Amino acid sequence: MPEIKNETSEDGALTAADAEPDGAPTTISRRGFLGAGSATLAATALLGGRLAAEVPSPAEVAKAEHDRSATNPGPENAPLAAENPSSMLPPPTDHGDVPTFWYSFALTHRRQQEGGWARQVNIKDLPLSKDIAGVNMRLTAGGVRELHWHQAGEWSIMLSGTARLTAMDTEGRAYVNDVQKNDLWYFPAGVPHSIQGLGPDGCEFLLLFDDGDFSEFDTTLISDWVAHTPKEVLVKNWGVPESALANLPKEERYIFQAALPGSLAADKQAAQGGLGPSPVAFDFPMHAMAPTKKAAGEVRIIDSRSFPVSTTIAAAHVIVHPGAMREMHWHPNADEWQYYIQGKARMTVFINAGNARTMNFNAGDVGVVQKTMGHYIENVGTTDLIFLETFKSDHYVDLSLSDWMSRTPPELVMQHLNVSRETLAAIPKEKLVVVSDGSKTA
Ligand code: MN
Ligand code: MN
Repeated sequence: MPEIKNETSEDGALTAADAEPDGAPTTISRRGFLGAGSATLAATALLGGRLAAEVPSPAEVAKAEHDRSATNPGPENAPLAAENPSSMLPPPTDHGDVPTFWYSFALTHRRQQEGGWARQVNIKDLPLSKDIAGVNMRLTAGGVRELHWHQAGEWSIMLSGTARLTAMDTEGRAYVNDVQKNDLWYFPAGVPHSIQGLGPDGCEFLLLFDDGDFSEFDTTLISDWVAHTPKEVLVKNWGVPESALANLPKEERYIFQAALPGSLAADKQAAQGGLGPSPVAFDFPMHAMAPTKKAAGEVRIIDSRSFPVSTTIAAAHVIVHPGAMREMHWHPNADEWQYYIQGKARMTVFINAGNARTMNFNAGDVGVVQKTMGHYIENVGTTDLIFLETFKSDHYVDLSLSDWMSRTPPELVMQHLNVSRETLAAIPKEKLVVVSDGSKTA
């Protein structure tokens, strides 16, 4: 953007201190202003009397984009810059110092082992990721994420393929079930469990933990515990001879290749003790769930009201058709941790006092929107946009800008925004969640 030097002169020319706290235009007819340098005059005229700290007009930005102002003769990571055109060439409404709310699993270290791999995005990668840490994991057919538990609650969505889950509930009852693409699961903190990829090609899934400091590489593993327990204690604990324990792992296994399991019915039967199977539904078959809202897309909201075991993570699975948009909204209860499954998105987060930033998102990217901050997510690609909105909460809640405007006396809104009664009447009267392109239907 054009920049005005804050010229100082003894006769009180324009300075940054003259800006009004709310960013409103400063009265420029100050004593001695006419005596200021001609450069200041010219620049002020160019900006229509506004100060450099203000947002440039679209016309100014359009001009800057097409003259030498936008050139970039220095070094550039061109492929990465091309992934985020809204950072390279922000919309003119972007302004201020907004914390980065984008990261990508494509940039993370991938821990590869025989049987699968894992990579994570937590607060170390993305400082705004305070409430939630995300892990992306792949297991081959037969590959096992070994028997373990952790201090954080684990929520998950299957992205590809199928897996067999096992767990034991807090009453000591066994849970075994198979999940497929788009199914969810949740294991509370301390509940022991495992995940095994099934045929033909294993699975890939996203895990979310209700703690941004969580590390997937710091969990309680059965192999690790056993490897760090004196042999005589294991003998006493299990009542078996030490010779039977000669081949125990010497270190953690974490992920390893195993044989494919037998039938689900056989595994359920084999794991079930005298207490019978666990009545706790640790998984949620979202693949069979009808959308809860439809308007230029699909939305499925899953939280503890429909998935009772999931007491710390609430989620919305959102599909936005090409050209459509997740409407302008905010969440009063928690930060939003997003995962992009498919398509191309543009999101602007408005963080008050004139500060706003726009970034682009692709499959495998993560976004975080701080609690209560206004945002939209626009499908800027040619395919359906599919993404997850997740929250560290027992319930999902969002508030819609259009809905709020309609739940307010019209005269009040009209005077705030200088819009006519006809315009206000045309704005949606309810929360649509996903909206189509209004400029094309108007
Ligand atoms: Mn786990
Ligand atoms: Mn949101």
